[in-house]
Amino acid sequence: MPLENYRFMPHSKLMSADEVYNMAKIFCHLGVNKIRLTGGEPLVRKDFGEIIEKLAQLPAQILLTTNGILIDEYLPILIKHQVSNINLSLDTLNAEKFKLITKRNQFDRVWSNMQLLLEKGFKLKINVVAMKGLVEDELLNFVELTRNWPIHLRFIEFMPFTDNGWDKSKVISAEAMLAIIGSRYDVIKLKDEPHATAKKYMAIGHQGTLAFITTMSQQFCGECNRLRLTAEGKIKNCLFGKEEIDLLSSYRSGADIEALIKQSVQRKHFSMGGQFIEGSMDTNPQTIENRSMISIGG
Ligand code: SF4
Repeated sequence: MPLENYRFMPHSKLMSADEVYNMAKIFCHLGVNKIRLTGGEPLVRKDFGEIIEKLAQLPAQILLTTNGILIDEYLPILIKHQVSNINLSLDTLNAEKFKLITKRNQFDRVWSNMQLLLEKGFKLKINVVAMKGLVEDELLNFVELTRNWPIHLRFIEFMPFTDNGWDKSKVISAEAMLAIIGSRYDVIKLKDEPHATAKKYMAIGHQGTLAFITTMSQQFCGECNRLRLTAEGKIKNCLFGKEEIDLLSSYRSGADIEALIKQSVQRKHFSMGGQFIEGSMDTNPQTIENRSMISIGG
């Protein structure tokens, strides 16, 4: 969560459940076959169940990224509609640190929900934003989770966003994390899937895997096939893109939004939304033109 009091978007500006479905249908018509609901936190929407029910009718795999707090309430809906791939955002295994990072005293609930998902056979990835000085003493504990549980860890390098206190000295590279992990575990490289954002590894003998999302140290924009649609219906063709196209207003006025989606894809920059030089971390936070992460979604 950002440090300052965050002002949430009024409901009238957000896509309704029907609009989410109709937009998604158009994207599927253009060839999208995977839809991930992210946040902020998707489970806080009162109509989350309705949205899932509608999206489940589309010829696409539906996936979810969540902070895990409300999973127990929505488990029957997720099972019913086969939303079986869950990414859980969990930056620490320490309850006090969790409270500091998230401003919520909910570690125990998230932990028991994580176990609930594993018991029910969900494919579980844990997203850990790795910040230098915060993650080092937790790396081995995280990897230990993969020994007996089929958990897929993903350590995400710290990235520059508006108001997130970006400083390149807070980045810990995948290489540095691997060196710490290698001090206790024998780690092997696994084959990465096409268009994967993560470089996958495994500690020998463990059930789960670990991976690194190396946005800052080794960019992978050439493999990127992702588009984002914000809660208020704006398409972003890159996580770091500053150009957005307002699909929702066009949709509400009856315009052809397929053409706008294609236009957005065609305008995608070669890398990093055209905002940073590939391979460079010398980014001035004052010049970043982007939303904060909480209003983009994962
Ligand atoms: S193009 Fe943008 S969204 Fe895609 S991998 Fe690069 S930075 Fe991420």
